[in-house]
Amino acid sequence: MSRNDTLFARSQTHIPGGVNSPVRAFRSVGGTPRFFERGQGPHVWDADGKRYIDYIGSWGPLILGHAHPDIVEAVCATARSGMSYGAPTEREAEMAETLCRLVPSLEMVRLTSSGTEACMSAVRLARGFTGRNRIVKFEGCYHGHGDSLLVKAGSGMLTFGNPDSAGVPADLAAHTLVLQYNDIEGVKQVFAEMGDTIAAIIVEPVVGNMNLVAPEPGFLETLREVCTRHGSVLIFDEVMTGFRVALGGAQAHYGITPDLSTFGKVVGGGMPLAVFGGRADIMKHLAPLGPVYQAGTLSGNPVAVAAGLAQLKHLQTPGFHDALAAKTRALVDGMVGAAHDTGVAFSGQSVGGMFGVYFSAAVPKSYPEVMDSDRERFNRFFHHMLDAGVYLAPSAFEAGFVSAAHTDADIAETVAAARAAFAAL
Ligand SMILES: *Cc1c(COP(=O)(O)O)cnc(C)c1O
Repeated sequence: MSRNDTLFARSQTHIPGGVNSPVRAFRSVGGTPRFFERGQGPHVWDADGKRYIDYIGSWGPLILGHAHPDIVEAVCATARSGMSYGAPTEREAEMAETLCRLVPSLEMVRLTSSGTEACMSAVRLARGFTGRNRIVKFEGCYHGHGDSLLVKAGSGMLTFGNPDSAGVPADLAAHTLVLQYNDIEGVKQVFAEMGDTIAAIIVEPVVGNMNLVAPEPGFLETLREVCTRHGSVLIFDEVMTGFRVALGGAQAHYGITPDLSTFGKVVGGGMPLAVFGGRADIMKHLAPLGPVYQAGTLSGNPVAVAAGLAQLKHLQTPGFHDALAAKTRALVDGMVGAAHDTGVAFSGQSVGGMFGVYFSAAVPKSYPEVMDSDRERFNRFFHHMLDAGVYLAPSAFEAGFVSAAHTDADIAETVAAARAAFAAL
């Protein structure tokens, strides 16, 4: 038995499924999850000492790679003067100012510890601000596991949502309308019929939770238009895209201004930190100024904020995102080229530092199209790559991430591994 096997067996005794977040369990690809002991730059080492080129980066946060010295130093130095106070610190003001400067739609922000909290708080705030209950989300978008957001499409034309998890009351899910991503006409129709009862649209401006699906021209613009017309709050969930597809997030990349936004992952540099924020007139409805309650014992934790600030500083180096985008594009182009040479139906795309690769001839544009890709083939590909020392997301339905620490040699090694994997499929 490998040490990974031993640790997995041990973990399953007292942790459901042996993991603290389900996708880590390798259920969709099969096999034993790798237990990691160390990460440095673009690489991670598992419990058996095997090295991998890492394209997950803790699911997005590690845009500078693992254990960046400036972030490690910020964490250690801050921790030495206290881990948490449950009282405000100057660093939080600095973080708020930095965020409002980098993302122009942010006038005020509040810090939380997870993207889940940020999204559920933004939805509560939008409901409190508008005095409406209904929200719109899109199938395949993930906004954390808040009850109102763990909702899938129901049957029928106008999709009042059904719970997407046991434990979510159907009465609550019914307030969430689930539409298809990139379905401009569907959005217009729902707003024409009931726009004045809709508190908010929440959307991933580039979806990274059903593999990667990019917005079609006009889609985000339509969301902006209908929200403006009907007094609904447009929430961009930039937990994944923020500071990754561009310094100012997807909203800067596509030039659309949401009313509220959520951030997480990159913003904390690998520590638990997330953000929601936006228009001051909306944010002023939050306690203690207003009637919408939201709080957190560890919100704005000094160590997490210090890590986030240290990482954000690097992202402001001129050309940072252009270089990251070029590297990510080179990876995708290399893999797609290798697949074509071996005759495998495979496609890929990238937006900034995130990418999607698909076992389908064309890049998917919606949830049903993503679902049509060849999952079984992906699973075999995944294991070939894992054996070759390349750690991709253990699911065909997750985006991948490149960091600034990945070198041309890492990309070349990955493309060579992919070529061998395609040939062996
Ligand atoms: C990861 C993610 C979340 C949830 O963030 P957590 O920190 O895991 O709670 C929400 N929205 C999007 C788009 C995400 O990618």
